[in-house]
Amino acid sequence: MTNVPNAGSGLVFGPQIDTAGSAARFSVSALGLQFQGEQADIVVPGWSALRWRKGGFNDAQLLVEWTTPEGAFSLSVGDPASQSALLAHLPGAMQETTRPSRATRTASNSMIFLLVLLPIVVIGLIVWQADRLIDWAVSNIPVETEIRLGREAFAQQRQGLAILENHPGLPMLRQIGARLTGGSPYPYEFHIARDEAINAFAMPGGFVVVHTGLLASADSAEELAAVVAHEVQHVERRHGLRGLVHAAGWRAVLSLVLGNTGGSIAGSWVENLGDLRFSRSQETDADLEGVKALVRADIDPRGMVAFFARLAKDPSHLPALLSSHPASTERMTAVRAALPKDRAYPPLPYDYHRLRGAAK
Ligand SMILES: [Zn+2]
Repeated sequence: MTNVPNAGSGLVFGPQIDTAGSAARFSVSALGLQFQGEQADIVVPGWSALRWRKGGFNDAQLLVEWTTPEGAFSLSVGDPASQSALLAHLPGAMQETTRPSRATRTASNSMIFLLVLLPIVVIGLIVWQADRLIDWAVSNIPVETEIRLGREAFAQQRQGLAILENHPGLPMLRQIGARLTGGSPYPYEFHIARDEAINAFAMPGGFVVVHTGLLASADSAEELAAVVAHEVQHVERRHGLRGLVHAAGWRAVLSLVLGNTGGSIAGSWVENLGDLRFSRSQETDADLEGVKALVRADIDPRGMVAFFARLAKDPSHLPALLSSHPASTERMTAVRAALPKDRAYPPLPYDYHRLRGAAK
């Protein structure tokens, strides 16, 4: 309180005063507000009869108003020292001076919004819209870019695989694959790898690998075809690409949308391949689209139900296919329900038990 000034200056308005206001000096005391000089005659009631508010641009002006028998007067004060001289006495102003002014509060609220809330809002929007953003990115990555990326990723992946170029089942696998991928924009490659794990996988761009363990476990070419149809749909529906986009980060995604596959981008994507897991809905999607593809190719789709049922009831080994492709009764039920009724299919023309290779 000791440093509060007891005088100040401003513009006074009122009857008999120019509409632009008149520069005025004033002093303040517990008794009241007293004008000096040529405005000394202006009658000002006691502090309790004064009204005041902040006004003007950014609330930078203090406006004190009062009424006398002559009419309404006001005093507009801009400079902070003069304002604090008045605010030390104005009714209700003491709490106000110990708090930031409305202008300051507005400004600091804005800063809080910018620094804290805005990022939260933006992140919230991104999370909320993440699926749509990923869908957008995935649908905007050119097929050629995806194929280049997949080829690069598969080249790395195959170093760890025992690819069998002369497996007796390879022509069968490729013929079945060709029937299931007619009209696709992807240049499919079908491979057999020596691996006892009952598994098959597909990489973006159309690289499908079937393990010898899966060939041995399936009991007919139709069952093999069902697995191939399922894997192909992961490629066609870009499930793997979607997972990679999700994992790769936005910088990589944007450069891919722009058709760029720098080595570092592909490298970081390939690192993520091992972690790729499809969602349950993607698995169901691949099942149901796979059934449609089998029907289009005139291959009996009941092989899908038969093969998954066989895997599900075989506890002798952990089927890798099921761990990377979680099975569920709902999935099986959905596949069964999707099978066309009363439709016959010619059997696939292969001696499957001979072509699947020696059982391990
Ligand atoms: Zn799958």
